[in-house]
Formats: sequence, structure tokens, C-alpha cells
Amino acid sequence: MNIDRYRVRPGDRSALSRHRPGDTATLRDKNAAQERLLRSITHLEERLELLNAQNERALLLVFQGMDASGKDGAIKHVMSGVNPLFTEVHMFKQPSSEEMDHSFLWRAVKALPARGNIGIFDRSYYEDVVVVRVHPELLNLQQLPPDLVGPRIWNERFEDIRSLERHLSRNGTVIRKFFFHVSKEEQRERLLERFETADKNWKFSARDVRERQNWAKYAAAYRELLGATSTKVAPWYVIPADHKWFARLGAGAVLVQTLMEIDPRFPRVSQEQRDALQQVKHELEAQAPDGAVPDPFAQR
Ligand code: AMP
Ligand code: MG
Repeated sequence: MNIDRYRVRPGDRSALSRHRPGDTATLRDKNAAQERLLRSITHLEERLELLNAQNERALLLVFQGMDASGKDGAIKHVMSGVNPLFTEVHMFKQPSSEEMDHSFLWRAVKALPARGNIGIFDRSYYEDVVVVRVHPELLNLQQLPPDLVGPRIWNERFEDIRSLERHLSRNGTVIRKFFFHVSKEEQRERLLERFETADKNWKFSARDVRERQNWAKYAAAYRELLGATSTKVAPWYVIPADHKWFARLGAGAVLVQTLMEIDPRFPRVSQEQRDALQQVKHELEAQAPDGAVPDPFAQR
């Protein structure tokens, strides 16, 4: 799959209209996709092991989308089989009062992945230029000095986000961002399903249903942020998401391609380190075989 088609060029504000949520590229069905997804996941596992062993770069994946866009399911699928020891997943919900006493980037910065790890943001600081923009009353809760709040604030936040992401990139974090592009009609069907299917009831939220009346405002906020914050070092991908199988494949494909670009290798072992290893090996060999001396762990 040519995943590059879905990458948003810097400054491009028409990315959402260029991609149909129902797009499935050249793939016709779920079965073909599943096979590919499985194959790409095997690649992922190996390369993520290397990323971890090398301990130089971190990988940060940001997932955004409307409610029921399927990002949670995609995260689960793409990450299945990846070693949980070096995966750091964070969900960003309504900020706590402690979080609101800090800059909007603070809670995300605290959650950034360490070198060698893969970090997943299920929502992110981008909520602060989406839901907060659609509901300006949320901005009032953020305790900002009034002279810093005005129409400029969104462009200033874009600038701050670009700066943060560039800083991270310069320090070894590779960033990829996904917008799960779902249609309003598909969302309606998924929300209805939550209502009608007993074991999905818990997901049903009256708020999500009412939020649909702000659909156009969300679309406008996303259109702007995608253009303003898709950069060479931290590109956005618009992932057509009306077909869950396609969205999962798309996100998986971006991840595989990114790891190929990073091309992590096992750390090189120098001659000195090799000599030191030999020395330890000799010491180990010279010790009495186990069983010849009593093992204190085994003593009562
Ligand atoms: P969910 O992902 O369905 O669990 O919902 C989490 C909710 O938290 C969403 O409605 C988000 O819009 C909301 N949320 C996330 N970050 C923020 C934020 N910075 N300010 C206000 N609401 C937020
Ligand atoms: Mg939700």
C-alpha cells in the first residue's frame, strides 16, 4: 500500500476533503487486509526489539479522531504482539485541576516515551486545539491570564506544538500522527450499535451523541490543525476510517514504514567490550559447577 498518499503536506488545508472516509485504496476486502496486517506485525516486533536494544530513538504515535472513529481498536490491533515492556500507552481525557494549573503541553511532556520505547498517545495535546476550540468555555477553565487569551491563541498553540515536536525530533524522538477520518453517517451507525449491543452499552455516551451537532466545527478545527502542524519531522496521516480493517492496516503500514526508515540495529560491541566479555566468561567457567557447593538459596 502506498501510504504516502495519506500523508498531509505542510500547509495543506484540504487533506480532509481529498480523502474519503470510505476509501480502501486498492484493497477490496478484509481478508486480504488481515493477511497483510499479520505480516506487517511480525516485522514490527523484530524492529521494535532492535529499537529497544539500540536505546537511541523513541517512537511517538499520536492518535486523534472523532468519537467512535476506531482509534482505540486500531491501537489494540497494531500493537498486538509488541512487547509491553517497551510500550508506553497514555490516554488523555478531560484534564484534572492539577493539569489545568500547568501549560497545556505539561501532561503530555510528562508522558513522553523514553529512548528505545514506543509511546502511544490516545488523544493528546491536540485536544487543546480541537475540543477546547469547539467549546471555548473549556479555555476559561484553563486559568490563563486574560491578556493571553484572544483569537491569536490557536495559531500560537500551533506554533508551540510545532516547536515541541521539532525539539523532540532533534533529540531522537520520531513522531507520526494519525487522524482517523470517519464519516458522520458511519459514526451515527457506530453510536447506535453501542446503544443496541448490550456489551457495548458501557461505551454509550449521551455527550457523544449531542457532540454531533458540532461536527462542522470539529471538521474546521481539524482542517486547520492538520495543515498547521503537519511537518517533515512530525507528519500527520489522514487514515480513512469508515472501514475498521482498512484503518488498522493503514496505521500498521505507516508504523512499518517508519521503522524501516529508522532502521534500528543492535548496538555495536567494541573489541574492548568483547575482551571484557571473554574475561567474564572465563571466570564463570572457572567457578565450581553448580551442586558442588551448597546453594544458600536452597538452604532452609
Ligand atoms: P474518550 O476518549 O471517549 O474516553 O473521551 C475523552 C474525552 O476527554 C473526550 O471527549 C475528549 O475531547 C476529552 N478531552 C481530552 N483532552 C481534553 C482537554 N485538554 N480539554 C478538554 N477535554 C479533553
Ligand atoms: Mg468516547
